[in-house]
Amino acid sequence: MSIKDNLNTIKESLPSHVKLVAVSKTKPISDIEEAYAAGQRVFGENKIQEMTEKQEVLPKDIEWHMIGHIQRNKVKYMAEYVALIHGVDSLKLLREINKQAKKHNRVIPCLLQIHIAEEDTKFGFDENDLNELIASNEIGELSNIKIVGLMGMATFTDNGQQIRKEFKQLKNLFEKTKSVFPDLSQLSMGMSGDYKIALEEGSTMIRVGSSIFGSRN
Ligand SMILES: *Cc1c(COP(=O)(O)O)cnc(C)c1O
Repeated sequence: MSIKDNLNTIKESLPSHVKLVAVSKTKPISDIEEAYAAGQRVFGENKIQEMTEKQEVLPKDIEWHMIGHIQRNKVKYMAEYVALIHGVDSLKLLREINKQAKKHNRVIPCLLQIHIAEEDTKFGFDENDLNELIASNEIGELSNIKIVGLMGMATFTDNGQQIRKEFKQLKNLFEKTKSVFPDLSQLSMGMSGDYKIALEEGSTMIRVGSSIFGSRN
């Protein structure tokens, strides 16, 4: 199957309100060009430097999403162009994004990453951290960022019930958090192995890499 066929197969199965982020990390420019030629405009990368190198040479109507863990000192390299930052996991990081966005006179949309998996290697806020963040009221003062949703990664497991439980948990938190953040509309959950479950549990944005571009080395 070609990249184009893979994309079309996935897109046909998506409800119209769900956005497909094609995760192109580690993949060559030529693969992204192939997906672009097939109509794909939203791409996700997990390293700021790699994303920026690709952004510089590829068409400017691509929407670049940062989906990985972010080092604060690198935010400045993407602040001018990044369309959505999925992996925001601290107030310190939000302050830095706000500061860099301001330099470019932009408001950068962000998702708060929530820790839903069993593994402790996955970054993100837990429910308590999130409540603290909300209670601090500082987000309201950061005028160059906008919290538009939540993002989470389920445990890496074959146990579909466990994955479903974790996505349900994230969806519940999303519904609760909506009352605090008026712009909350996006729920980024689901990857190649689990996006079908994520869609059933209310995802609005799936991040799919290997099912489009093939496995990574
Ligand atoms: C790599 C990655 C994906 C895509 O993973 P696949 O299993 O290849 O679809 C999605 N989300 C995040 C945060 C990733 O790092």
